[in-house]
Amino acid sequence: AGVMRFSDDLKQEDPRTLLLLNELRDALAAGQLQLQYQPKVRLHDLRVFGVEALLRWQHPVNGTVSPADFIPLIERTQLMSEVTRHVLGMALEQCAAWERAGMALSMAVNLSTCSLLDPMLPSDVRRQLALAKVPPNRLALEITESAAMSDPGASMRTLRALSASGVQLSIDDYGTGYSSLAYLQDMPVEELKLDKSFIVNLLQFEASAAIVSSTIRLARKLRMRVVAEGVEDADTMVALRKMHCFAVQGYWLSPPVDAVALPGVILEIERRLRSAA
Ligand code: C2E
Ligand code: MG
Ligand code: MG
Repeated sequence: AGVMRFSDDLKQEDPRTLLLLNELRDALAAGQLQLQYQPKVRLHDLRVFGVEALLRWQHPVNGTVSPADFIPLIERTQLMSEVTRHVLGMALEQCAAWERAGMALSMAVNLSTCSLLDPMLPSDVRRQLALAKVPPNRLALEITESAAMSDPGASMRTLRALSASGVQLSIDDYGTGYSSLAYLQDMPVEELKLDKSFIVNLLQFEASAAIVSSTIRLARKLRMRVVAEGVEDADTMVALRKMHCFAVQGYWLSPPVDAVALPGVILEIERRLRSAA
């Protein structure tokens, strides 16, 4: 096991953070880090074509801890790359199991900023794909704009290497950073995930609708598909379909669920959408 290296500012964190970090280390070994999966629905045929893997920490005392509460704490530590490897392993194993059960789903995994700067990541990903016998184009890696911008040279090298292996790349939380589509055009990216802040306001604010529809049009010209996250009601999905958005994800379709529940959830979503169509 690797040794945790705290960066200087982490050393000054309060003791509770350090305690949490130590607990997280044990949690990894004890199997308390599990994935849930949220379906992604293609709008042209209303089918579930893939899922996003979202990390959950089943803490024995505190209950389920959200990744938003612990990922930022481990970002700059050795533990982050261990968590990333663990997540990739679990997600690809699950992807292979669903494939054997007749469900060919694409699997999206979130990458943190520092994973993107890890020169070992591309070979690690290739090794894990081969181990799980999952075709590379079945894996999509989600990165945020700010991650890609933090060290453009280094992250571009990582992205190119991943893309050359056939892995799909996706820009997460698109619209919240400072990058322009013109800049992202130089990246080997197939998908933009419009941030949920635009989607939850789509029907209330004309500005959100304008941003969403123009992003979809421009992305299409740049041959990227757009996925809207945070779809919480039927009307928002209908509006996105009219704007020719590629796919949707959100509580209205399904919240993230455990692997065992997913096949039933997919059947339920597709039945519900067919009867509404
Ligand atoms: P994200 O990748 O943008 O994931 C979307 C978040 O929105 C998830 O929160 C999801 O549960 C939530 N969500 C889904 N549908 C809706 C909706 O309709 N409305 C609203 N308001 N929210 C919705 P979650 O699971 O708490 O994850 C938070 C963030 O933590 C993720 O944002 C991602 O950046 C990060 N994360 C999650 N899993 C991992 C992981 O395995 N590795 C890394 N590095 N980061 C992860
Ligand atoms: Mg994501
Ligand atoms: Mg997001």
